[in-house]
Amino acid sequence: MHAELKTLLNLQEKDKIVMALEAERKALEPELEELNGKLSAVEETAAAAQVRVEEADERRGELEAKIEGYRIMQERRRQKLEWVRGAKEASNLMAELDLARSVLAKEESEWVRSADRVQEAQRNAEEAAAALEELKAEQAPKREEIAAKQVESDDKLQAAGAERDEAARGLDAAMQERYSRIRRGRAPLALYPLRNGACGHCFTSVPLHRRQKILTSEGIESCEACGVLIYPEDE
Ligand SMILES: [Zn+2]
Repeated sequence: MHAELKTLLNLQEKDKIVMALEAERKALEPELEELNGKLSAVEETAAAAQVRVEEADERRGELEAKIEGYRIMQERRRQKLEWVRGAKEASNLMAELDLARSVLAKEESEWVRSADRVQEAQRNAEEAAAALEELKAEQAPKREEIAAKQVESDDKLQAAGAERDEAARGLDAAMQERYSRIRRGRAPLALYPLRNGACGHCFTSVPLHRRQKILTSEGIESCEACGVLIYPEDE
């Protein structure tokens, strides 16, 4: 076989190893994505629960301020009542005091409900935070396993990449470029065997004179249709 073709085929074997390792590395991703998806859903729930605590707390604070304002106004009315002389004015003030008292009572019961809501929101937030911690603990062994596999895969890839580069050094720059250019195209590999007189990749028939060149290892022929390099299969 043509010496350069041998080097090319050797390089292709090394690249196949790299491709297989890359596929292996990529196969770890869906599992990791699934874990991340579950985690972020629970994280969002926990964060939303925390926001509801803050909202409920704010609402309670607003009611407290409102009630405090009513109390001050009510106190002023009472003081005013003490020195008011006119009967009409006094009865108006009494009516105001009664009305304000019922408004205050309503606001106070609203405050009690808001305080309950704060507690409920806090309970929910605690539960959501606990669920998040539980999920993290549950996922930890699986994540460690995946991380270990990734490290292992990266190591193998690095070694395979180095071997691949070493194999490529056996080719001159022009052939390296030719090989890379074919691989950047549609064919997954750069070299295919001659099969039944046709390109092993796209099955286009190879003209007789070129077939002869391939079989006698005179030169390196490429497929006229798809551009891959063609080698004699028997060897
Ligand atoms: Zn072809």
